[in-house]
Amino acid sequence: MSTLQKQRCLNHSVREAVARCPLCTQYFCRECVTEHEDRVICAACLRRLTFKPAAKKRNLAGVKRLMAGACGFLLAWMMFYTAGRMLLSIPAEFHDGSVWKLSTFDQE
Ligand SMILES: [Zn+2]
Ligand SMILES: [Zn+2]
Repeated sequence: MSTLQKQRCLNHSVREAVARCPLCTQYFCRECVTEHEDRVICAACLRRLTFKPAAKKRNLAGVKRLMAGACGFLLAWMMFYTAGRMLLSIPAEFHDGSVWKLSTFDQE
């Protein structure tokens, strides 16, 4: 007696099942199953098992995006900081220049 012989592949209704996936308990033909960690499982379950690293990668990408945003913010801050330092390092005599006197004169 063999119930397996009467079973058909879940994906190929014309093919006889040769293996039963221990995870989803469905029957599959030789083409639809694959060996994974000493277990014969179906392609759908293999995808489900190997999906986790992909999800991790997506999270890593999110972290990378966050890092890129932080780096961009840091870069912008450094630019402002450098610009501020440059303005401070400009000699005081510059502010006594005629440029400022002219501008105040124009406003009056
Ligand atoms: Zn399965
Ligand atoms: Zn099949």
